[in-house]
Amino acid sequence: MPQTPDLDLTRDALATSTLSHGLHLLGDRWTVALILGAFLGVRRFDEWQTRLGIPRQTLAERLKALTELGLLGPRPYQERPPRYDYHLTQKGMQLYNHVLMMWAWERRWGSRSLALPQRLVHKTCGHAFVPRMSCSACNEKVGIRDLTFSLEVNEALRAVPAPRQRGARLTPEEGAQMGLGLRVDRWALLIVSAVLLGCHYFDQISHVLGIGSSVLARRLAGMVDSGLLLCQPDLNDARRKIYRLTPASNDLSGYIICFSNWASRFHFHEPSSIRPTHKGCGQPFVPQVVCGHCEEPLLPWEVVAEGHAG
Ligand SMILES: [Zn+2]
Ligand SMILES: [Zn+2]
Repeated sequence: MPQTPDLDLTRDALATSTLSHGLHLLGDRWTVALILGAFLGVRRFDEWQTRLGIPRQTLAERLKALTELGLLGPRPYQERPPRYDYHLTQKGMQLYNHVLMMWAWERRWGSRSLALPQRLVHKTCGHAFVPRMSCSACNEKVGIRDLTFSLEVNEALRAVPAPRQRGARLTPEEGAQMGLGLRVDRWALLIVSAVLLGCHYFDQISHVLGIGSSVLARRLAGMVDSGLLLCQPDLNDARRKIYRLTPASNDLSGYIICFSNWASRFHFHEPSSIRPTHKGCGQPFVPQVVCGHCEEPLLPWEVVAEGHAG
């Protein structure tokens, strides 16, 4: 039977995590799609609109938001009427690790309906590769089982007001289509994080994420259906069910950790309340994403994306 986590601490750590705050900024479907597009070389309004099928008004809003966040920088290419190219800024470029982990996850588990490249080639070593996460301190390959987590509530981030939710409240059906792939949205990532931190029961997840029963029940059922959670009877108490991560949701941890690290270092400039340690070397875990072939860290301009799907 799983150990009971400190539920109030877990709740406060999740609420003050750079993950949760970062997902408020960048966790919606269109924003994710725009960032992926920018890394694949999409620069212009019309090109985004054609490639992503995004409504013009929504596209204009998202480009403005990403510009205000300092992730995209507009450069005029035509005076009348004024037209702009949108380039990734240095801060935007720092999202590359997270984008690579997203691509790796989608390739393995996703529906491939996003405009993703078929193949990534590392120019430095000349090989097609699958990106993978390793430890910056010791360079060992790291999966979720190689990490332990300690929690330290970050009061500075508690004070940050929750950003306004974009758009209307989502129905579960729409929710299922947002974010990372077709199946993963902001709440799914937070639920995966709660389970990762040891919350395996309905009431525990409800407590730490502050989600009401009926909404949570729908969300958990949807995640079970789409292979992101296992729901098993608790052998110690037949009335309770235990929720566990699946291989697909375990694999989301790379994405979650890289994104949380980005938000911490390059946006909030605050340590995350959820602190991973690499068991192998005992150091605080700082992720790096490396080429699965030559094991060198990856830079956007050293990678060629071949064959765009979708
Ligand atoms: Zn290490
Ligand atoms: Zn390589």
